[in-house]
Amino acid sequence: MPQRYITAAVVRQASGPFGLEPATLRGPGTDEVIVEVKATGMCHADIVVRDQHIPTPLPLVLGHEGAGVVVQKGSDVGNLDIGDHVVLTFAYCGHCAPCSSGHPPYCEYSFPLNFGGVARDGSHALTDSAGHPLHDHFFGQSSFATYAVCNQRNAVRVRKDVRLESLGPLGCGVQTGAGAVMNSLNVRPQSSFAVYGAGAVGLSALLAAKARGASTLIAVDIVAERLKMARELCATHVIDGRAEGALTLIKDASHGGVDFSLDTSGVPTVIEQASAALAPMGRLGLVTGFPGTKAAFDINSIFQGGRTIRGIVQGDSLPHQFIPYLIDLHVSGNFPFDKLIRYYEFADINQAAADSHSGKTVKPVIRVGR
Ligand SMILES: [Zn+2]
Ligand SMILES: [Zn+2]
Repeated sequence: MPQRYITAAVVRQASGPFGLEPATLRGPGTDEVIVEVKATGMCHADIVVRDQHIPTPLPLVLGHEGAGVVVQKGSDVGNLDIGDHVVLTFAYCGHCAPCSSGHPPYCEYSFPLNFGGVARDGSHALTDSAGHPLHDHFFGQSSFATYAVCNQRNAVRVRKDVRLESLGPLGCGVQTGAGAVMNSLNVRPQSSFAVYGAGAVGLSALLAAKARGASTLIAVDIVAERLKMARELCATHVIDGRAEGALTLIKDASHGGVDFSLDTSGVPTVIEQASAALAPMGRLGLVTGFPGTKAAFDINSIFQGGRTIRGIVQGDSLPHQFIPYLIDLHVSGNFPFDKLIRYYEFADINQAAADSHSGKTVKPVIRVGR
């Protein structure tokens, strides 16, 4: 297979900048496609790995919310054609016990496939201009690049009548928040929902809870700008989580306790607050947390009240079904996730990272293609 000359954003040192470099990309394997990337969202994991809090090896091409067009495919690719619009999502093996039972976010090979920095056989798809291999396959895509190679499993075909460059975030951050609400917690109409942390994942969850018909929509955060955004989107109550009596405010807003809630902060004190605010039979989802972090909760309250605390990866999404569903919901006007987006040119990718970190932008999307 011939090589393709591309431009990629390469991270060469921990916490270092994204540097745009020429690179070469190999052709597709039998079950892979080459995607001309139009735009890629920037998500928390890109920053966490750039800063090497997760030690995916450097030099590395990040990017895991790609949206683009299939330009080449391997001989065994049956479900995608040249010219298809695709959203790139997380990688999974498709064969292990969780994958086989319909739970690809919990794939046994999730870590090496998404964070290993190489293909499963240890090879690299990208080479720099000096001929040295670059680490790639980040979330099975490394889409901070003009072209990406990915497996047909994590390239999701989407309808063509929607602005393609807006769709990448559905592959990770938006799917994580919306899926937690719709698939995992199964938020009911007329219920109360609280989200802790009003970033891209949290606000996506809030929008999904609104779409599900929850009547009380509470956003808890410590940044005034984020709470303002939550209010503008759909929150019925916004609460500063550090304010005195915040727990009482949350309970009052939900008439005694929250039916469904989602923590997107991974901060122990926040998770403790969220579990203490649950109504009887209330459910709390956790979508992030560094290894070794511990939080305390009242065992009696959880068991006597029939309350649930559970972990959720990628919103329990079956991406080939859930991402098209979210797009349909968006087209019908009931899931305006694009309000979270601000666009950046590829050359401004470091500004996008800075604005994401400062909270100035909820969801940066990098226009990688022309
Ligand atoms: Zn992500
Ligand atoms: Zn698997």
